[in-house]
Amino acid sequence: VWLEHVSPMWHSRAWFEETLSVEGFVFDIMVHNANTLNEMMAHDDNIKINMSECTIYKRLRPFAKGSLRAAYFARTAASDNRFVVKSFMRGGRRLVHLVEDMRCQALCKAFALEFNAMLVYGNSTEKQFLDFIVTACWRGKLGMAMTVSSDQLLSLEPYLEGDYIKYNNNCGYVNKDQTQINQAAQAFSHFTFERSQGRFLVCDLQGVGNILTDAAIHTKDLDRFKLLESNLGPEGFRFFFATHVCNGICSKLGLKSNASMIKSGSYDFRESWPRKSNV
Ligand code: ADP
Ligand code: ZN
Repeated sequence: VWLEHVSPMWHSRAWFEETLSVEGFVFDIMVHNANTLNEMMAHDDNIKINMSECTIYKRLRPFAKGSLRAAYFARTAASDNRFVVKSFMRGGRRLVHLVEDMRCQALCKAFALEFNAMLVYGNSTEKQFLDFIVTACWRGKLGMAMTVSSDQLLSLEPYLEGDYIKYNNNCGYVNKDQTQINQAAQAFSHFTFERSQGRFLVCDLQGVGNILTDAAIHTKDLDRFKLLESNLGPEGFRFFFATHVCNGICSKLGLKSNASMIKSGSYDFRESWPRKSNV
């Protein structure tokens, strides 16, 4: 296969790059307080997504291929930051799917900001705070002028350097590492369920260290995030609680929900969520 095996010289224009001028959607990240999170949970329209144009320099050959997408090293004209452009290798997906993905990421990020604000870890130097990367997406042409190129769905996200770790998935897998970051990730999933009073559960947590990507959300309301195949609804809640074991962070946060409550349908949640506290 034609993969790039070394990372490119990020800061030099190269023969192996193409320039894309694109117009698409970016998430407007303005999540600073609990009210915003409440609004975002209440309705998708409260998750702001804007049109935007930008110029991207993208390598011609991918450096990796997943099950669905090929990933290319890229940078933008506007900054020196490193990015990844992803393109779907097969059809069947439309722009609405990508926008739904973005809404999902935005809500994950809002949960994470509140989760972080509620935790104080003493003098620990580990990075326990969680963040989610968000993608931009658009429809555009990919490939050099000489080659046949058709409209493609593309997305752009920050390049993550380092060991990629899966913390949990959307059907009950739990990473058993004793690291703080893994504990934080498991507690975060539990927190999202409790904080939303049983309406959402963020899982499929993975990424490099504390920077997470590609999470899934199970929703009680079957109309929310229904384009996302990873949303298993209330069944997903049961999968999570079947294997989740509460840790120190869950108890610091006063999380009450557990597997037997899910089974019996009689929930007990922590009631009030202050904007910030030293729990
Ligand atoms: P798919 O959705 O088709 O499974 P992925 O999104 O998993 O594709 O991407 C394929 C591979 O590209 C990943 O396994 C990982 O090695 C690499 N990759 C994906 N996203 C990033 C990123 N943001 N930074 C660095 N490497 C990435
Ligand atoms: Zn827990």
